[in-house]
Amino acid sequence: MIEGGCFCGNIRYTVDPGDYLVANCHCSMCRKTSAAAFVTWVVVPESAFHYVKGEPQILNSSEHGTRYFCSSCGTPLACINTTHQGIVDVTSCSLDAPEDYPPTIAVHEDTRLSWLARSP
Ligand SMILES: [Zn+2]
Ligand SMILES: [Zn+2]
Repeated sequence: MIEGGCFCGNIRYTVDPGDYLVANCHCSMCRKTSAAAFVTWVVVPESAFHYVKGEPQILNSSEHGTRYFCSSCGTPLACINTTHQGIVDVTSCSLDAPEDYPPTIAVHEDTRLSWLARSP
């Protein structure tokens, strides 16, 4: 079982084992809601994703996107986009073992920060 959760531990989740696509997203909404240069997402079927402790806060971040985060510590946990039916995107760095799920693609590279490629 793949396990993860927020920084403060109020919210925990599991993901059924599987081979999942992992993608770096460089869109401006991911950047702003995480306050990081980009967000790495694990793309998981909704049926494989389970909250096992706590209830996330919900943010409707766009017409199609809903983001889930911890209301106590603010950790971004998941995003559901209605244009991708049956899929939940899980923040790879809220996993307990993000090292095990390296990204293989990048999306929204048109809004990638220009200094990212040459940053230390
Ligand atoms: Zn938390
Ligand atoms: Zn994004």
